[in-house]
Amino acid sequence: MILIYPPVAKPCEPPAGIAKLCGALNHHGIKYNVLDANLEGLLSLLKNPPVSSDTWTSRALRHLPGHLDSLKSWDAYRNEDRYRRTIKDLNRLLDMTGRSSRVRLGLANYEHEALSPARSTDLVRAAENPEDNPFYPYFKKRLTELLRNEPPSLIGFSLNYLSQALCTFAMIGFLRRESPGVKLVLGGGLVTSWMRRPHWQNPFNGLMDHLVAGPGEGPLLLLMGVTQSTDILYKPNYNSLPMRDYFAPGPILPYSSSSGCYWNRCSFCPERAEGNPYIAIPVEEVVSDLLHLVDRHKPVLIHLLDNAISPSLMKSISEHPLGVPWYGFARITRHLTDPDFCFALKRSGCVMLKLGLESGDQRVLDNLQKGIDLEEASSALKNLKKSGIATYVYLLFGTPPEGLTEARRTLQFVAKHHDGIGFLNLAIFNMPIYGPEAHQMETKQFYEGDLSLYTSFNHPKGWSRHLIRQFLDKEFKRHPAIASILRRDPPVFTSNHAPFFCDGFHIPHPT
Ligand code: SF4
Repeated sequence: MILIYPPVAKPCEPPAGIAKLCGALNHHGIKYNVLDANLEGLLSLLKNPPVSSDTWTSRALRHLPGHLDSLKSWDAYRNEDRYRRTIKDLNRLLDMTGRSSRVRLGLANYEHEALSPARSTDLVRAAENPEDNPFYPYFKKRLTELLRNEPPSLIGFSLNYLSQALCTFAMIGFLRRESPGVKLVLGGGLVTSWMRRPHWQNPFNGLMDHLVAGPGEGPLLLLMGVTQSTDILYKPNYNSLPMRDYFAPGPILPYSSSSGCYWNRCSFCPERAEGNPYIAIPVEEVVSDLLHLVDRHKPVLIHLLDNAISPSLMKSISEHPLGVPWYGFARITRHLTDPDFCFALKRSGCVMLKLGLESGDQRVLDNLQKGIDLEEASSALKNLKKSGIATYVYLLFGTPPEGLTEARRTLQFVAKHHDGIGFLNLAIFNMPIYGPEAHQMETKQFYEGDLSLYTSFNHPKGWSRHLIRQFLDKEFKRHPAIASILRRDPPVFTSNHAPFFCDGFHIPHPT
């Protein structure tokens, strides 16, 4: 069997979903190969000069070896200007390469001029014309080699982001043509979301043999003839992934201690709308897994992937430090208002917490059932700052209860707490097509296609996307305290690289 992670997704850490599948296959002694076609494909395109070249592109190409070395060592992270220049140059090379295929290509971006990843007919077209894909020369050679050396009976794709969809289908189209007898299986986060849409009908009949929603371990094992596998919590296995080749100063270890969310109440949440249940690995097991993985891979950073790290896990990590810096998403709860709790987190290696604050208006938060008290949020931000933990705060504009007045309260809250906010992510609300709220609002067909996960709606306060953008560009982002937070955000890699730029992160001195 071959497991493939297709382009394009941020190439800074190994794909956790594939590592979980590897763990399950190892457990049952099933042989497999892993192909991180995202990392390999991006590197292959970067190393092949674009057809047309201007001064910037030629310079970027000249500096390419140095840029790649600096991103994979500490050099780029010691100097923010150098880091930004490096990312801009790499993106420039990809952008120029993608143009001949009518694709806006970047390190985390794949947008075709005419084909949408949210339209099944476009995905089928991508499968019918794999040679039109800019990664075609790479995957044609690589897949042909793999098929020749060890012909597999099954090939699985892990499709998680829209930016991977068109390339995934191009690769599937190529395999269907070259190797019609091989079983093709498609799973991953994006496929799960598609399949959880109401009235889902598979529009890809004939292309794929199986589509998998939710965790893929059980269905994959079943396809391989293993029937007693459903209640085993498999440990991720990263041994087949090129841990040291990613765009990071050393291995980043992603780890998921739970699926779903222990809070599971926020009205706008796609996780809740999809009905994904909360399943958590016992905290003692999480700590022992992590210690084992740390020992094996010597990561420079642990990325906890949970939608919300539970307070009990934070407590357990505080009591059994992992000896490696870590970060992840946490809810703003009363625990973070306790300075001792925050200091203990810091001592355990917590370098940054991602916090979904969403709004600085209490009525909006209550209406969204976010379970956040703004006074607690204020105290949490201050405590985290004092203990040396950076925060990456997520805001969501344009939710149904928010209008301009409420959005201005968010602005005031952020400006007042700017000192405790390391980084900011600003998003405009999308209404999940299958969420309960969609039924209460006047909705219309959204811009995208039959696979779109969101619907547009008439905002009850007339707070349209256009007005929100205007507010963000002309008012919110121009506030001097907020502008300086936004300038800190690492381009392209954002929160994935942000921990390396936190004051509390110890970067080794050059030798
Ligand atoms: S805390 Fe996050 S994941 Fe959990 S329900 Fe709210 S938005 Fe969803």
